[in-house]
Amino acid sequence: MNARLPTTAASRVDAVIARAIRQDVQSMHGYAIQPSAGLIKLDAMENPFALPPELQAELGERLGRVAINRYPVQCVGDVVAALSQHIDLPSGAALMLGNGSDELIDLIGLASMHPDGCVLAPLPGFVMYEMSARIRGVPFVGVPLTARFELDEAAMLAAIEQHRPTVTWLAYPNNPTANLWDDGAIERIVTACARHDGLVVFDEAYQPFASRSWLPRMGEFANTMVLRTLSKFGLAGVRLGYLCGDAALVAEIDKLRPPYNISALNCEATLFALEHADEYSRQANVLKAERARLLRDLALLPGTTVFPSEANMILVRVPDSKAAFEAMKARGVLVKHIAGLHPLLANCLRLTVGTPDENTAMLAALASALHDR
Ligand SMILES: *Cc1c(COP(=O)(O)O)cnc(C)c1O
Repeated sequence: MNARLPTTAASRVDAVIARAIRQDVQSMHGYAIQPSAGLIKLDAMENPFALPPELQAELGERLGRVAINRYPVQCVGDVVAALSQHIDLPSGAALMLGNGSDELIDLIGLASMHPDGCVLAPLPGFVMYEMSARIRGVPFVGVPLTARFELDEAAMLAAIEQHRPTVTWLAYPNNPTANLWDDGAIERIVTACARHDGLVVFDEAYQPFASRSWLPRMGEFANTMVLRTLSKFGLAGVRLGYLCGDAALVAEIDKLRPPYNISALNCEATLFALEHADEYSRQANVLKAERARLLRDLALLPGTTVFPSEANMILVRVPDSKAAFEAMKARGVLVKHIAGLHPLLANCLRLTVGTPDENTAMLAALASALHDR
């Protein structure tokens, strides 16, 4: 917050905050986004490629024709249909849209907010699972991964037995560790949750870069849903997430969706992107090849430990992550310093896979940061 109203008004506002805003909200921090102006931005798993100019022009024309004077109704149905086809949605399943998958994480948190509610997720994981539970007063149980960031199956099963979570989150692949967990362990965890009629949501934000998806298996396990987003695919600025599951289950969560949560412009841009899915899959292939190059070259840097990745990010451990982060930034490359997120992430940086040139610059910045230590 920068400016305040004149002092007399400001003190009144403070009194209103004290009375009207929840105490826990007053003492919490908002989701921090680090400034990136002038830097090579490799901190947020964005797709680094802009649309080719001719597609930009075509999109501009399409957006110009959208009926922005009307509430978005028909276009939402069109997006649901186009996405269902794009992902080959299993029969009997339904799909609902969110303003980014963050909104859907929040709606699942809202739906599970009852006296028996309990949310469980492995840690370190995506922060929104914990945040959406806590903000609603739903107990959150975090179960640490192993030191190699694999699921600790015994600890997960014990926690499920003890807490009987109503919702369990499995990011597939996980953020920030970028790996896909063992399917055998996952099946046993899903089965353990099913014993208490607990829901398990697979968050597949990184599906465009992963070798496996849970979607084809959703029918085998009635207590599972799959959450995805177009953000990492290449539409982070559009805000479009979707949740798939048994039609009856989706219908329950859909009751909580704010009407008209997806703008007509989001819809049109999404339809356009799906019509050009080949361009996006070409981009994803470049990023996967670049990921392979980075995994190889990062492993050659002295003192670094590189973890396997099935996403458009790579987790690395260096001797001094804070110094490396600052030195890379001084060389114009912004990555994410995540050592503070969880003790298991000590001295870890999370690198987003960028364009070939950006990756070359990132490697050079990290190499010299490590060298100059
Ligand atoms: C980026 C990310 C999301 C959020 O995606 P949006 O659709 O942009 O809100 C959700 N889950 C995971 C694991 C992510 O990394």
